[in-house]
Amino acid sequence: MNCTDYLSMLATLPVDELAYGDAREHVSTCHDCDRVTRVVVERERNMRLAFDQLQSSMPATQTAIRALEASRRRRIARYYEVALGVAMAATLVVMVAVRRGNGPMPVATATETFRLQCLSPDQAAEVVRPFITSAGEISIPPSGLGIIDIRAPIEELQKARSALDRFDNPRESRCAVRIVVPTER
Ligand SMILES: [Zn+2]
Repeated sequence: MNCTDYLSMLATLPVDELAYGDAREHVSTCHDCDRVTRVVVERERNMRLAFDQLQSSMPATQTAIRALEASRRRRIARYYEVALGVAMAATLVVMVAVRRGNGPMPVATATETFRLQCLSPDQAAEVVRPFITSAGEISIPPSGLGIIDIRAPIEELQKARSALDRFDNPRESRCAVRIVVPTER
């Protein structure tokens, strides 16, 4: 038996079958084949150990169970994702409902003090009242020094200002007489 014969046997037969006969005779005298055999034996022993460990720690049924559990966990995770999404959507709806329940969205308001030129504060209040909705507020300072404060959304404040420009004007003949309150908005 030469090295080629021995190595082809080593490649195809179980190592145990090389432990006697011509093969054993060859390997006992051939350093190269002996070395290769030791490597193969060592590797197979390691592989068998690894397989044994794998099999003892995870038998086939257990492996199957784990695979099933993993897929079940993925399904449950998916359900949780969907449920969380639904819960978040519900929260958003509730938040929107709460906002709606609190009335209109807050509008930017401003406060402006008007110095009256010829109208009394009461008259000025009468002039601007049609332009100031419930969101706004007309107040006459107790000092009564010919001023009026208006707190209202910017847009309403502008309408009130233009109304006062028009009616609280000394050049307007109506200024000193009875005020005709504008009714259009
Ligand atoms: Zn050899």
